[in-house]
Amino acid sequence: MTLPTTMKCLVKANAEKGLWMEERPVPTIEPDEVLVKIERTAICGTDMHIYKWDDWAKANVPVGLVTGHEYAGYVAAIGSGVRRVKVGDKVTGEGHVVGNRSRNARAGRFHLDPDTKGIGVNLPGAFAQYLALPEFNVIPLKDSVPLEIGAIMDPLGNAVHTALSFDLVGEDVLITGAGPIGIMAAAIAAKSGARRVVLTDINDWRLDFAKKVAPETRMVNILNENLRDVMTEIGMNEGFDVGLEMSGAEPALNQMLDTMIMGGNIAMLGIPAKPFPVDLGKVVGKALTLRGIYGRQMYETWYKMLALIDSGLDMSPMITHRFAARDFQEAFDLMETGKSGKVILNWNEL
Ligand SMILES: [Zn+2]
Repeated sequence: MTLPTTMKCLVKANAEKGLWMEERPVPTIEPDEVLVKIERTAICGTDMHIYKWDDWAKANVPVGLVTGHEYAGYVAAIGSGVRRVKVGDKVTGEGHVVGNRSRNARAGRFHLDPDTKGIGVNLPGAFAQYLALPEFNVIPLKDSVPLEIGAIMDPLGNAVHTALSFDLVGEDVLITGAGPIGIMAAAIAAKSGARRVVLTDINDWRLDFAKKVAPETRMVNILNENLRDVMTEIGMNEGFDVGLEMSGAEPALNQMLDTMIMGGNIAMLGIPAKPFPVDLGKVVGKALTLRGIYGRQMYETWYKMLALIDSGLDMSPMITHRFAARDFQEAFDLMETGKSGKVILNWNEL
């Protein structure tokens, strides 16, 4: 197969709201790299920050960058040193490209490497017909895994890594924040043996949607229901054993601290938009453990999520909308309404 010399891609071409479809050269690959022909991509909250060009994006993302980091496709070419994958393989990939100098990277704790760069954030991204990435980052997919499921494995990895931070078997789990990762975490917690799973938010649309993905979960709109009453209703006597904080919101974290059991464990993935007060006396007095979560473990989390999918974890209800890549503007407009699950772009439709 001969490769084209140019490709279409979505570029942060101007320092203002929006993304622009441009023609760029197809990336060249180094001996240890793989060229992926992108088939499907998903839009992430991170992409929305870049699209809207908020303060975080201005500080972190270079103008002119090809965006996007949630993707699946087929291997189109391999570098001379690549051994683990071959042309034609169905693949997705880890979007964090790690260095090889830091203490953590040298110790194999790749997800804790401070030199990490992100595809579609600091490095050329996957909203493109072709993506070059290190062989190390490539994840082969079984035939049974649909491309669009491959395209949502980046956030699924966040959900798996957070949910499996602590033992869930027989435990009562509180998840705060019904964004895509919170919803996926609810389904994972149920499949991983949790007794009760409660998901809180203040948005009825999100909680209704979550019910389709994680039907075993007790959804709670904390504007309408008292969480303590719900705990009694579902047969909880003391407090939540495990908390998964996915919202980054002050009331959510404080309510979690209030309703945890003595000695409970909290994993925190939600990023607060700005600092807020927390009563650390509760953390001490209740002997709680708080653990910050970043990204996903390379590549143990990937192993776990592929195994969970293989054993029946069905994430297909997470995908609510599909667009041709040429209609990307419609897709971003929809994402801005907040009334969507994962939104897929098809890169064969340009
Ligand atoms: Zn993402």
